[in-house]
Amino acid sequence: MSGITRRMLMAGAAGLGAAMAMPRWLHASMQIGDWQLDTLSDGNLMLPADFILGPMPADEVAPILARNGIAPGEPLTPPCNVTLLRGQGRVVLFDAGSGLAFQPSVGELPDALFALGVDPADVTDVVFTHAHPDHLWGALDDFDEAMFYNARHYMGAGELAYWRDPETMNSIGAARQAFAIGAARRLEMLGDMVESFDDGNEVLPGVTAVLTPGHTPGHMSFAVGNAMILGDAIGNHHVGFEAPGLLSGSDQDQTMAAETRLTLLDRIVADDLTVVGFHLPGGGIGRAERMDGAYRFVQDG
Ligand SMILES: [Zn+2]
Repeated sequence: MSGITRRMLMAGAAGLGAAMAMPRWLHASMQIGDWQLDTLSDGNLMLPADFILGPMPADEVAPILARNGIAPGEPLTPPCNVTLLRGQGRVVLFDAGSGLAFQPSVGELPDALFALGVDPADVTDVVFTHAHPDHLWGALDDFDEAMFYNARHYMGAGELAYWRDPETMNSIGAARQAFAIGAARRLEMLGDMVESFDDGNEVLPGVTAVLTPGHTPGHMSFAVGNAMILGDAIGNHHVGFEAPGLLSGSDQDQTMAAETRLTLLDRIVADDLTVVGFHLPGGGIGRAERMDGAYRFVQDG
């Protein structure tokens, strides 16, 4: 069933009221100065455990998984939380979700926006953390046109150059080749709707880019007031916090990504930042606490 048909069905069921649909998609909210921040569920991914845990020593990982209620070898089902920031006359999305071409369990962002009364035409800015399928592919609709057609789109300069480079699909390796082909095609369709920015730039008033490389070459997080929109710089609530120095199979440059996590977690705790994570549970808003020489994720609310 196409997204459009689903949205039309939702419109037909409007008598039930958007409020009934909201709890499914609207997971967490916070106020940051003039900004209202909401996280919306795009669904969840289905990943073989080894996709993340493959390179990790099993005996080190086992107690962490047990503590977080994950059985050994069980597939991982990370939620996908798209951040919506509203204020100052803007409607801003951080990442665009998966769309319907990636996995059947994702692609719900348009329904989530509908439930909240936000029309795709209302979105003024789409800011990408990186160009992986679950973050970028939802930027196009079923007709391969821009889903958020009135929005300016922004991607870190290094990230944009990497995925637009025709050489990337040859050099990235077989496991990620589909990501490269998918990203290149979507960036081509978006064309000059996409602008780039650099580390430290104020992408929007009060929203500062923080280069957090490793998961992808030019991955960006964003500081907004006392919050940090992480993207996939810390990509899960278990090993990502409790063993942040371990190399993760989901990161393209595993060593750099581990260094990024350690630096980021140090800053998050030192500055007492609220984190907003794309793949963190309960809507993804919470904080990091020090625990046994590492950290743990504490969900807000
Ligand atoms: Zn990613």
